[in-house]
Amino acid sequence: MENDIAANFADITHQIRKAERVSGRKDGATQLVAVSKTQPADALEAALATGHRVFGENKVQEAYAHWADVKPRYPDLTLRLIGPLQTNKAKEAVALFDCIETLDREKLVDALAVEMKKQGRTIPCFIQVNTGAELQKAGVLPTGLAALLDYARAAGIIVTGLMCIPPADEAPQLHFAFLKNLADRHGLSQLSMGMSSDFDRAIAAGATHVRIGTALFGERS
Ligand SMILES: *Cc1c(COP(=O)(O)O)cnc(C)c1O
Repeated sequence: MENDIAANFADITHQIRKAERVSGRKDGATQLVAVSKTQPADALEAALATGHRVFGENKVQEAYAHWADVKPRYPDLTLRLIGPLQTNKAKEAVALFDCIETLDREKLVDALAVEMKKQGRTIPCFIQVNTGAELQKAGVLPTGLAALLDYARAAGIIVTGLMCIPPADEAPQLHFAFLKNLADRHGLSQLSMGMSSDFDRAIAAGATHVRIGTALFGERS
């Protein structure tokens, strides 16, 4: 398995560089975020052994189980929260993560601002946008983005980018282009979009962070 994971990291990194070239992006413009949710410890170790240091987790509790003991050994480790955050987990999230990609409501802004101040720890955030306006999905509606951005900035939160998860049954390119357009309009330079099945198209649309799990670690059980 260790060999598979190393080979997958090499292959995906190669594909990312190729997608950058094909779409006229700068070499290295896209950061690979390895999505380690549900993976066993030996898979994480295999990923770390390749030299990779940027990981995404979608649950605070699981992220602690995965990384709390590992982090002290890797000072350059970067952890990104890519799943919904409840306000009662803001404290743990601020203590562990280096970026929160899923800011999507004022109450969460308030909770994060309080915790960052308390802990003396400022971590950048992305706002998650529900580009497909799906009822069950997290993220601020596109029409609410400007107000949430103003609110977050007024609270002292540093917002550096936008994140989206396109609807499963629609062409992702439209959502990627839409998110890029929103980011440009609001002067945000970073874009987290694209997963195992569509990261090439996300890179073509301007992604700076692609969140990839299955293509690196295999199918989740
Ligand atoms: C699980 C997950 C991913 C990774 O998806 P794959 O299809 O396994 O690459 C990306 N983004 C988010 C928000 C996720 O929860």
